[in-house]
Amino acid sequence: MTITIGVLALQGDVREHRAALEAAGARTVGVRRPEELAAVDGLVLPGGESTTIDKLLRIFELDEPLRARIAEGLPVYGSCAGMILLADRILGGTADQRTIGGLDVTVRRNAFGRQVDSFETDLAFAGLAPADDGRDGAPRPGQDGDAVHAVFIRAPWVEEAGPGVEVLARIPEHGAPGIPAAAAGRIVAVQQGSLLATSFHPEISGDARVHELFVRIAKG
Ligand code: GLN
Repeated sequence: MTITIGVLALQGDVREHRAALEAAGARTVGVRRPEELAAVDGLVLPGGESTTIDKLLRIFELDEPLRARIAEGLPVYGSCAGMILLADRILGGTADQRTIGGLDVTVRRNAFGRQVDSFETDLAFAGLAPADDGRDGAPRPGQDGDAVHAVFIRAPWVEEAGPGVEVLARIPEHGAPGIPAAAAGRIVAVQQGSLLATSFHPEISGDARVHELFVRIAKG
């Protein structure tokens, strides 16, 4: 069964998400109009600038239709700015910034601080297929979820998650080089039912496993 995943195409890295979703076996379409939103089996909210995407969602009259589809169970994956848009609560937003909501989390926008606007690190991520290690393709023993190479660009983190939210990845407790101490142990990937969100951008690291996970979620 091939499913159609829309990528919200108002602003942000739409092309990269479409390529990763297609590598994960989905058909993709850009979504700019309510009729396009109505036709998809799942939706990606890309990284970009959440304040801008919020304004454009309202201007394009997609905000209410999107809330309605999420309430009906539409699978949605938000990366970075997309995570902010999916969050029920936001810290560090602009005065008039709103979110679409659906995910019972509080996100902190631009959480990692100025000194590390951007960084990359490897993170354990629950529920991913093991990365192909280039040998026999067989899963390596003892790994529940494999490391994913995570690119963070002025990223949010999840400050608080409700009881129905499954944590899929965190910044390690022991920290990592170049990452501020305050980030140790912070939640950076979550799932709640058919909603998935990551602080980072798997669409730009050439590893489609997070998108494969989302396509599996969208297929139910
Ligand atoms: N800092 C951006 C925001 O607040 C998110 C950055 C990103 O998506 N890479 O929307």
